[in-house]
Amino acid sequence: MNQYLRIDEWAIVEEGFDAHTHELSESIFSIGNGYMGQRANFEEAYSGSSLSGSYMAGVYYPDKTRVGWWKNGYPDYFAKVLNSTNWIGIGVEIDGVPLDLHKVKVHDFVRTLHMKEGYLSRRFTATLEEGKEVEIDAIRFVSKKRQEIGAIRYSIKPLNFSGSIRLTPYLDGDVVNKDSNYDEKFWLEVSRGTNDTSAHLTVKTKKLDFHVTSVMEYCVTKNGQVLPIEPERNEREKFVSHTFSVDTAAGEELVLYKYAANVTSRNYGLGQLLPTAEKLVQEAKTAGFASLLQEQTDAWADVWKEGDIVIEGDPSAQQAIRFNIFQLNQTYSGEDDRLNIGPKGFTGEKYGGSTYWDTEAYCVPFYLSTHDPSISRNLLIYRYKHLEKAKENARKLGFTKGALYPMVTMNGEECHNEWEITFEEIHRNGAIAHAIFNYVNYTGDKAYLGQYGLEVLVEISRFWEERVHLSAMKDKYVMLGVTGPNEYENNVNNNWYTNRIAVWTLEYTLESLNYLSTEEPDRYRELTERLRLTEEETGKWKDIIDRMYYPTDEERGIFLQQDGFLDKEIIPVRELAAENLPINQKWSWDRILRSCYIKQADVLQGLYFLSDRYDRETKKRNFDFYEPLTVHESSLSPCVHAILACELGYQEKAYEMYLRTARLDLDNYNNDTEDGCHITSMAGTWMAVVHGFGGLRVTNGRLVLNPVVPAQWSAFSFRVVFRGARLKVTAKADAIEIVNETDIPADLSVCGNEGTLEPHGTWKQERVLV
Ligand code: BGC
Repeated sequence: MNQYLRIDEWAIVEEGFDAHTHELSESIFSIGNGYMGQRANFEEAYSGSSLSGSYMAGVYYPDKTRVGWWKNGYPDYFAKVLNSTNWIGIGVEIDGVPLDLHKVKVHDFVRTLHMKEGYLSRRFTATLEEGKEVEIDAIRFVSKKRQEIGAIRYSIKPLNFSGSIRLTPYLDGDVVNKDSNYDEKFWLEVSRGTNDTSAHLTVKTKKLDFHVTSVMEYCVTKNGQVLPIEPERNEREKFVSHTFSVDTAAGEELVLYKYAANVTSRNYGLGQLLPTAEKLVQEAKTAGFASLLQEQTDAWADVWKEGDIVIEGDPSAQQAIRFNIFQLNQTYSGEDDRLNIGPKGFTGEKYGGSTYWDTEAYCVPFYLSTHDPSISRNLLIYRYKHLEKAKENARKLGFTKGALYPMVTMNGEECHNEWEITFEEIHRNGAIAHAIFNYVNYTGDKAYLGQYGLEVLVEISRFWEERVHLSAMKDKYVMLGVTGPNEYENNVNNNWYTNRIAVWTLEYTLESLNYLSTEEPDRYRELTERLRLTEEETGKWKDIIDRMYYPTDEERGIFLQQDGFLDKEIIPVRELAAENLPINQKWSWDRILRSCYIKQADVLQGLYFLSDRYDRETKKRNFDFYEPLTVHESSLSPCVHAILACELGYQEKAYEMYLRTARLDLDNYNNDTEDGCHITSMAGTWMAVVHGFGGLRVTNGRLVLNPVVPAQWSAFSFRVVFRGARLKVTAKADAIEIVNETDIPADLSVCGNEGTLEPHGTWKQERVLV
């Protein structure tokens, strides 16, 4: 854990430059707009350690799998989110000396992520050779309104000398991915060119033929006056630039405004790429930096108006939740159903930028409550469109029917680098089924079942049917050789969570079929005929529901994470000396697998998902047993624990877990944020507040709220959309208020009191039950 950022409710602020935390800050200060994203790399050269990252959503590379001993079933490739053309670059030379923060003395360095307005700024003074001091003030953003546009204002002021400042704005497509399996470069040049004030570069991926065209335009001012520029134009393979020098006296401010448009062949035909990018960048330049920034501020004001969470009395928690909401909104905007949410979003290469179960288990609830239902529907449709591939995936692994969704995917195919660990994580299928339930339950859009949902549910159920078998010894169905959500156990038998979510899927599928047969009989007939669904199959599902085996320990009254869990030496994490943690960095894999330590919620994940099926005592016994053994080394872990702790009245634990999830990246809890921020777990942070402290659930078409206010907060408030109504919920220790901001009534159940909140009405309740 490393608390090096200043607490500020609306900004992330780093004061003082430390090369050791630079890559960490490059992740944290990333900017994005759902279409593209950019790590907080410097515009000028930097020869210290840095991870360059400029990402275009949906542009990836199928990097050939690298393994020692090939086994049947390995994915052919691991999809990589691609570091693409560097459009931010500006070479800076002062009297012939390159500005490089690794080589000069830096003072008064302040880097700020302005979350309210959606931009990044950086200011510092550098002392160069011979004591020359220069002040730099740089601002940049990727536009929320004009998704292809990035803009930079780069200001340089010599403080105690007059000299020649040489600037080189450039586009560089000769970039690498750090995680390339064979140290290969992924881009080829298609075309390049320069003209008076602009330059362009088109590159394409070596495989799959994704084209990205970048065009830059710029203008230069001195003390606010536009300067005529006659640049040298330079070109080499995958690189274009302009260079010019300006004599600048002490105290004069030289500003370079750089605009870039980045367009891809995902959205435009090849012949349209250059003209489109040229047009877009021209429009941006004509609008000018100040007005683009104003647009940006306005667009972010809209986001905050709908989705802010206000925490009173705890600035650190406030900053953290805003950071999480900010990053989620930077990552996924939801209009494009071909896109999904990578665990690192646009902040790093790790996890390949691909889709994991994280989307269904963590992100769907966030988008359901904070955005129009079409956005979460798009996330579901993404999987619907991958159904055929999920069937193929099941066949590749030897199943004769059903669908197994991949653990990691870009286009529906499995493409995981760590296949040995994850191929048995078939629980992901359950999360995808559960997200359908969640969507239908939350929105009331039951038509989705007949249109898309049931087809997915039936194929997943078929997979479960074939994946279990009847144990002659137990006379129960068992599921062998799986990995549960806790990846610190591989290839176990009867993981309770997986068995449970499989049975739950079968139940929900049957229930949904039943609904369709009575409410939409024609559609039911058409669907069951097309899917060739037989009574024999559904009969088998019922038998599995009735006779599934669940490992339990009667004495402790808990579900066992898997067969034999209690054979382990059980020593709580708090008794481990601190130098052992995090175990994934300190221990051998062998030692981890043998230990009782749990990476992330596993049994508890099930109790959270299927919350209404278990009573408080059952949850308590399991929480009390498993939480002390949990190292929370997956970012997805603390949020689930925070929610359960709230439900169980463990307020201190809930708060501890909340801070851990909320400040995971800001304080680098797991010592890995330099690889990128944990974007999908940020949705978990939101859940910790809204589902945890807010107690939000949806039961029988009612929005249920049971808020508890942690002792560290005086109050908190959040907004949710529910079946068309937008509600502002404010909770204080002894009162709760809900304001309906729309013309649509909402059915509520607040701390046990049921009623309808009329349009524009206010619901006030004196006492908040704990
Ligand atoms: C977790 C998985 C998760 C993945 C991507 C892993 O560390 O164990 O559950 O899907 O990260 O976030």
